[in-house]
This record gives sequence, C-alpha cells and structure tokens, in this order.
Amino acid sequence: MVGLLDFQGFEEINTPAAQPSNCIFMTIIDGKQLSEQIKNELAEEVKTIVQNGGKIPHLAAVLVGENPASKVYVRNKVRSCEQVGFKSTLVEKSADITEAELLQVVHNLNNDPDIDGFIVQLPLPNHINEEKVTLAIDPKKDVDGFHPVNFGRMALGMPCYLPATPFGIVTMLERYNIPTAGKHAVVIGRSNIVGTPMAILLSRKGKVGDCTVTVTHSRTHDLPGIVRQADIIVAAIGRANFVTADMVKPGAVVIDVGINRVEAPETKRGYRLVGDVDYDGVAEKCSFITPVPGGVGPMTVLSLLQNTLKASQKAIYGD
Ligand code: NAD
Repeated sequence: MVGLLDFQGFEEINTPAAQPSNCIFMTIIDGKQLSEQIKNELAEEVKTIVQNGGKIPHLAAVLVGENPASKVYVRNKVRSCEQVGFKSTLVEKSADITEAELLQVVHNLNNDPDIDGFIVQLPLPNHINEEKVTLAIDPKKDVDGFHPVNFGRMALGMPCYLPATPFGIVTMLERYNIPTAGKHAVVIGRSNIVGTPMAILLSRKGKVGDCTVTVTHSRTHDLPGIVRQADIIVAAIGRANFVTADMVKPGAVVIDVGINRVEAPETKRGYRLVGDVDYDGVAEKCSFITPVPGGVGPMTVLSLLQNTLKASQKAIYGD
C-alpha cells in the first residue's frame, strides 16, 4: 500500500496543467486554488478561536528515516499548518528505530493532551509492520482516517475522520457544485486509502453521494466498456495516462488521483509528473477534469488540516 501522504509534496515543484486551446465547455477543477481558498477560511477560524481564548489546533507528524520524498511531504504539511495558524510538531526518528520504539512514540502522542491529531508518514522501513502502527493510533487522533474504527464509521455514515484523499475529492465536487445524485460513478482502483473509501462515500446518502457506483480493478473484464458508461470517473491506479479519450463519455466528470513519474530528459529533474488520465485527450471530451499536478494533491493536504481542526474541537468523538 502506498501512503496517502506520499503525494503531498509534489505541488511545490510543479505547476498545474493548462487547458487545451480547443476546449470550450470543460472546467478545470483547480485544486491548488480551491485548497488555498479553504486554507484562508481555516486561518480565519483559527483567528476566531484564538480571540476567544480557545486551543490552537496542533498536528504532529512522525517521520522515520531519510527518504527524501517523505521529508518533502512532511515539510509541506508543516508549512500548511503554519499557513493556517496551527501548531505543528515534527517527530523525526532514524530508519533503524525498532517497531517497539515506534509504537512507544505513537503511545506518547496518543497520551499527549496538547496534540490533537497526528500522522505517521508512510512508507515505514520494511522491518516495521505498518498495520500494527496504524492500529496503535488512537482513533480520536487518527486524522489520516486510516484506523479501522474511522473506516468503519465512514462506511456506516457515522461522524469520523474521512481519509484525506477521498475527503478532498468530495470537497471538490461540493465546492464546484457538481451534481452526483443518481449519477453512475466508476472508480478505477480499490486501494484502502483511495478507491474503496471513495466508492463508499459516493454511494452514501448525502450532498456528495447518492451515486450508483461501480468499482473496477486489475481483474475487471472490459474495463474500458464500463468506464465508458460513467458520468463520474475517479481514476486511482497509478498507471500513467491509463484513461484515454475513447474510454470517456462526452460530458463526464473526470477526477484524476494518479501521480506517476514519466521520463522527461528535457527537464531539470529528468522526469515530470502525470496522472492516470491522458489529460490532453480526455479534457476535450469531459465537463470537469482535475489536472495533475494541481488537482487532487493539494486537496489531500487540506483535508488533513480540516480533520485536525475537527480533532481540536472534539467534533467527532466528543471529550
Ligand atoms: P494502490 O497501488 O494501493 O492501488 C492501485 C489499485 O489500482 C489497485 O486496487 C489495483 O487493483 C488497481 N489497478 C492497478 N492496475 C490496474 C489496471 N491495469 N487496471 C485496473 N485497475 C488497476 O494505489 P493507491 O494508493 O490507491 O494510489 C493510486 C494512485 O493514486 C497512485 O498513482 C498514487 O500515486 C496516487 N495517489 C495520489 C494521491 C493524491 O493526493 N493525489 C493520494 C493517494 C494516491
């Protein structure tokens, strides 16, 4: 499994894709702009909390090892916290930390009254069981929404911390007033952090929901034929440019979660990032599309902040 927080650093090194020149009806869902707007709203809320003598939301992030990408992602989260006036704490541990020691770190954060929520940056070194670590996190502080208690509550429609990426997508659909009721949504990919929760959220009753959902995956027969029936497509598989224009019904809403590196010798880094959707081809056919980068990624970071605010307000589990 790939950690959802593994995608939150890319936005700082890429600019959003452009709208194709011959496209008239399509709207780009600008996750970068929308996340900034909602961050400003969060910052205002924090100001009010401070004025009223309330507690400043406090997010902690645990980073294990020297993975340069993970460092960028964590830095991005810390910076986002600062942007909205949250407190943040970075707990850095070396890659040779034992599982027992890491579980103790989690235990300490669970019991620290000043920490409202925390995340453990994935992936963890091979000698550490990620599931064990996830299960050790107090569901009340599990602002990633990965703990089975939060996942189960989500499935039952109970108050919970939603997993950050699906939460970000729901926010996008809501803020862009994209109708979902009665629509056929096809989710491509069934991971625990994106595809499966996304399918549950879209099928649930609610403002963003009430869809008829089909989940497709690597064993699906005639995947293009199924995707072609979709009013809403959520692509979350990790295959560059997998969804092509011939798989998209005219007017469909296309949400591209994928983040893939493709070689680009002309660039400084030697690669560029693309989504699971062939953006240029598909953009000409659809009504809404998220670019990569600048779409779902920034919304994922934002969702983490929104969950942290809820945690500090005891909005999900009470005192
Ligand atoms: P994952 O590897 O855990 O799951 C991939 C899923 O895709 C699996 O369910 C698999 O069955 C399915 N799949 C793989 N190949 C397929 C194929 N050829 N046809 C149909 N289904 C296929 O991945 P994940 O963690 O869900 O991430 C998916 C993509 O989304 C990755 O590119 C990842 O980088 C990206 N991602 C982005 C964000 C973000 O914030 N933008 C967050 C999480 C993940």
